[in-house]
Amino acid sequence: MNDYQTPVPADLPERIQHYIDGESVDSAEGGTFEVLNPVTNETYIHAAAGTKADVDRAVAAARRAFETGPWREMLPRERSRVLHRIADLVEDRGDRLAELESFDSGLPITQALGQARRAAENFRFFADLIVAQADDVYKVPGRQVNYVSRKPIGVAGLITPWNTPFMLESWKLAPALAAGNSVVLKPAEFTPLSASLWAGIFAEAGLPTGVFNLVNGLGEQAGDALVKHPEVPLISFTGESSTGQTIFANAAPALKGLSMELGGKSPAVVFADADLEAAINATVFGVFSLNGERCTAGSRILVERSIYDEFVERYAAQAKRVKVGFPHERETEVGALVHPEHFEKVMSYIEIGKGEGRLVAGGGRPEGFPTGNFVAPTVFADVPSEARIFQEEIFGPVVAITPFDSEEEALELANDTKYGLAAYIWTNDLKRSHNFAQSVQAGMVWLNSNNVRDLRTPFGGVKASGLGHEGGYRSLDFYTDQQAVHINLGEVHNPVFGKAD
Ligand code: NAD
Repeated sequence: MNDYQTPVPADLPERIQHYIDGESVDSAEGGTFEVLNPVTNETYIHAAAGTKADVDRAVAAARRAFETGPWREMLPRERSRVLHRIADLVEDRGDRLAELESFDSGLPITQALGQARRAAENFRFFADLIVAQADDVYKVPGRQVNYVSRKPIGVAGLITPWNTPFMLESWKLAPALAAGNSVVLKPAEFTPLSASLWAGIFAEAGLPTGVFNLVNGLGEQAGDALVKHPEVPLISFTGESSTGQTIFANAAPALKGLSMELGGKSPAVVFADADLEAAINATVFGVFSLNGERCTAGSRILVERSIYDEFVERYAAQAKRVKVGFPHERETEVGALVHPEHFEKVMSYIEIGKGEGRLVAGGGRPEGFPTGNFVAPTVFADVPSEARIFQEEIFGPVVAITPFDSEEEALELANDTKYGLAAYIWTNDLKRSHNFAQSVQAGMVWLNSNNVRDLRTPFGGVKASGLGHEGGYRSLDFYTDQQAVHINLGEVHNPVFGKAD
């Protein structure tokens, strides 16, 4: 118990270690870092701080498992069975997983439970996909048959952020493993707790030793060593756009395969003909769920002038009713932000916003939470497009609302940031919705919907929001080499050089 008298999960490990070649180990150099409880900001555990030496060991184990182990040679059906067992175990342990995730990250428990279910679903999805997969054959009648031979690539380096950590790890682990690769996972240093459950789950499900390795640590040390390791041909990264730029540069000398899921400042565009009730509910959820620490948050709401005043009034009233509370309480809708550094960042944007827009809800700490990383759902109206709170990713429960007069202006505003991850369009005009969707610069668009994603669809952003797409078969494309094999069926097509006269 702490000042707030909130509970600590039972049976926390004594410390968080790496998992290399089937064993839990401390850092070779003995270093650790502190992990904080976001409700109190007290250190509740120490985690192993990986350095190059640990990454070297993990990559060597993964490489060995890839080259000599059974995993990549197994039939898709056999690998699929292991992946389904992983999904079963994640489901069975969903409550524990969510309890740890919510405690470590500050996410509301009900939302952490939803993320645990999604993590299981990711494994189930790729387990099914690899047995259903067919590859392309191209025929040239009478002359050639060409087919695609898909092969795992080797050791995939997976680097993940602290928002919905376990779920985002599953998003990379499931396709990387399904395709037959070995992996080294480097989870975010703010939230290493739930990742420590993977080792037990994988071992129990029968994943061969060495296929999964985990190195904890700071991005600039453990993450950097993984990105620069010559025997890691693939890096799948989710995180901030600026970190993505650094990783891109560091991976360039070895010409690595890169998948980059980066930041966002996604617009929700509400036209006057929209179902206003549904649009308000969706846009409140769209920015305040997951504490606003959500890459696809609709953090800029653009509203047609004729409904603007009503929208702002109703939106602000609803935002004020959003229930801020302790992460473990089931009625909590917004919990505690992940870390005091992030809390300070979000609070500094709120102060900036007070000079850039009209504050209509929130604006600081919620009542009754004098300490810890709690932020009241905050709404700014009349925000001009040049404002920093319109342009920059805040990654907290803060939203900017801006009016528009015409469809053209709405599109201009929607596209007027460096990001391009998602867009949400609210209108009942069929033509307008599709035309807008095609012109908006976003990797993913939802029409009259919140962020509800079919796992088969591509996921990714344009502009500063990312490079490449994962999701469905595209994830398997990233984690496999697609070799083209050409077979001659007819005359050898062969211009003869140096022909004898
Ligand atoms: P971050 O970029 O600070 O860190 C992400 C990961 O990268 C962490 O594991 C970190 O340790 C590691 N890292 C940091 N510096 C590194 C380096 N030099 N080399 C290698 N690894 C390094 O991001 P964050 O603050 O943890 O996460 C929030 C960000 O993630 C937001 O911008 C959010 O939009 C983005 N995000 C994007 C998506 C998406 O799918 N597009 C999903 C979730 C989060």
